[in-house]
Amino acid sequence: MTHPDIKPTNAVSVFGVPFDAYSSFLKGPAKAPLVFFDSLSNGSANSSTELGVDLKKHPHIEFIESITWPEDDQAFAVIENTVSQIVEGGRKPLVIGGDHSITYPVLKGVAAKHDNVTILHFDAHPDLYDEFKGNRYSHACPFARIMESNLASRLVQVGIRTLNAHQREQAQRFNVEVHEMRHWQGPEQLDIKEPVYISIDIDALDPAFAPGVSHLEPGGMSVRQILDVIHSLDVPIIGADIVELNPTRDINNMTAMVAIKLYKELCGKMLG
Ligand code: MN
Ligand code: MN
Repeated sequence: MTHPDIKPTNAVSVFGVPFDAYSSFLKGPAKAPLVFFDSLSNGSANSSTELGVDLKKHPHIEFIESITWPEDDQAFAVIENTVSQIVEGGRKPLVIGGDHSITYPVLKGVAAKHDNVTILHFDAHPDLYDEFKGNRYSHACPFARIMESNLASRLVQVGIRTLNAHQREQAQRFNVEVHEMRHWQGPEQLDIKEPVYISIDIDALDPAFAPGVSHLEPGGMSVRQILDVIHSLDVPIIGADIVELNPTRDINNMTAMVAIKLYKELCGKMLG
């Protein structure tokens, strides 16, 4: 799995997780890694980030093909193990989902090396349900599992526009810093001073920018608003995921290209 020439610091390991078994409403995100990696190499976009990092054949990026598992109930163990090997090797995981349930095993893997993780989480939804439709590992629940397992000391959520009474209670219980979309002013509202893990649910974006998701939630972020936050960060990014791209709902591949744009700017920052 390890690239022989890769330097241990700041190197990024990019891998796909084709998992959507814990999606509550529609399937489709399991198809995202294949579409993502195809679109990444289809020639429609160049390989330079806005901040001037050229990702093409970059010596500190390794691509691991989409990981696999024998049965869905073993997926989380494989995901956790993959991530723990990456971080123990001194590299940073950049995970292409998959539905949002995978962020829980990813953070378990990150915990093999990092304590007191700050998570910056972009989403229309807080994903804090104690259980959803009888499933405690649903894509509506990962941040409840992460916080009650003490896998993060701080959870900062941006883009949120679906809080209900239960999730407000859960946010209070776990001291989640929820930046609701209706109050969003820009990255200066954030106070991130520690190394950070970034989780981007594509439905944080307004459906006008990103229609290829399972849960269309109007009133969301622009691509530029998320890029502004990524570009503004002045702390190391220890890992990241981009989840909930649903190619079966996409139009002209436009949401896949949004995922690639976010990937490029994230990856460039992680290498820096
Ligand atoms: Mn969401
Ligand atoms: Mn989510």
